[in-house]
Amino acid sequence: MTVVFSLEAPYRRAYELHRLTFGSGGPVVAIVAGLHGNELNSMHAVNLLASALQVQRPQGTVHLFPLVNTFGGDEGVKRWPFDDRDLNRAFPGDPAGTSVERIAAAVLAHSEADVCVDVHSGAPHVRELPQVRAPMSGRELELARAMGLPVVWRRTGERLDATGLVGAWRQAGRHALHVVGGRGITLDTEHSGTLARGLNRLLSSLGLTPPIGPGETVADVTRGEIETHRAPCGGFFVPEVRVGARVKPGHLLGYMQIPIGGDRIGEVRAASSGVVMTVRAWPMVHAAELLVRVAATG
Ligand SMILES: [Zn+2]
Repeated sequence: MTVVFSLEAPYRRAYELHRLTFGSGGPVVAIVAGLHGNELNSMHAVNLLASALQVQRPQGTVHLFPLVNTFGGDEGVKRWPFDDRDLNRAFPGDPAGTSVERIAAAVLAHSEADVCVDVHSGAPHVRELPQVRAPMSGRELELARAMGLPVVWRRTGERLDATGLVGAWRQAGRHALHVVGGRGITLDTEHSGTLARGLNRLLSSLGLTPPIGPGETVADVTRGEIETHRAPCGGFFVPEVRVGARVKPGHLLGYMQIPIGGDRIGEVRAASSGVVMTVRAWPMVHAAELLVRVAATG
């Protein structure tokens, strides 16, 4: 482990950006986790990959950053605690800027690679089936599909936001992918393992590591092929499905009840066949908030 960047902190030990490097030469892959300090599945996935790489000895170079936002990790919060800024909205950063801008600039500078992956968990209020988000076509979509994660989500506009790490990498001419799995503030070992195997398959597809066997992609979709259910009114949402469940039209996904007393005030049912890719984990909802997403399985 190498400390590639550090920053004096006023009242505690200095901030340190840690990088683990395996192998040497090309191709070079960089995998970043924990830009958001409360996204434990992303950290665990990268650490699982690190233990695999200790025995696999890659034919090429793999740089791993298991936890960028260490101070957020200490406090169990997503953002950078000193000024409550989102590190993933601070790119490309500034070596002479504020603390998040300096850290962002350091992450970008030390993750120089042919292929880059930014690993996240879902927000604390939703659980996500492990998925890779990729552009609609091109080399990045090929790389995304090679991961064999349960969901490939092809998105328009994926290249536009350069204040995020994936966009900044793309602006710098690197192939970059955005991976998400599980829920913030929660360690889910099954989803972390799925993410780690997906990352390992990506390395295999680039010739860095031996093949580990295929994954199972159950849905390869665009936004139009994802059925999004939002709360019809405020209330308490009780899910009846878990992420990864296969559903058919009419399947009960969950119901809304009045928080005090529990009277049922509405049901949420699938309209088409698919796999449940997102489920609300924090049940108190306001109208129009996300409850469930179902990705079409064709
Ligand atoms: Zn995140």
